[in-house]
Amino acid sequence: MTAEKMAHTILIVEDNELNTEMLRRRLEKRGYNVVDERDGNQVTPLLEQFRPDMILMDLSLPGMDGWTLAATLKANPQTQPIPIIAVTAHAMPGDRERALQAGCDDYITKPIDFQLLTRTIEKYLNLSPAGERPGKP
Ligand code: MN
Repeated sequence: MTAEKMAHTILIVEDNELNTEMLRRRLEKRGYNVVDERDGNQVTPLLEQFRPDMILMDLSLPGMDGWTLAATLKANPQTQPIPIIAVTAHAMPGDRERALQAGCDDYITKPIDFQLLTRTIEKYLNLSPAGERPGKP
């Protein structure tokens, strides 16, 4: 992992490789460091090794699903402060509430409105205690 000065690190938890690469490309273009993981079971061990500034999380995942994962991370004082944004195709009535109730801080549906995602990311980075504003273009 390159420690680019001032860059925030975003962890993408997503099992669809095309989605991950699309997100990675667009986030790296905006100056974020990106780490990705496809298996829900691997996220907790991964977070023992590093602390991302934010997690973008698919909900339907192999291993532990996103709802359980969000609840698990929010129940752990070490990972509780990390903002979690659900990025999901679950867009039926009630799905937003279910994601927020599980512990996600916010919820964005697929196909991704990237402007909305960018605004949401910036909003949570600014509120995050370790957060510094990403450089304005
Ligand atoms: Mn999935």
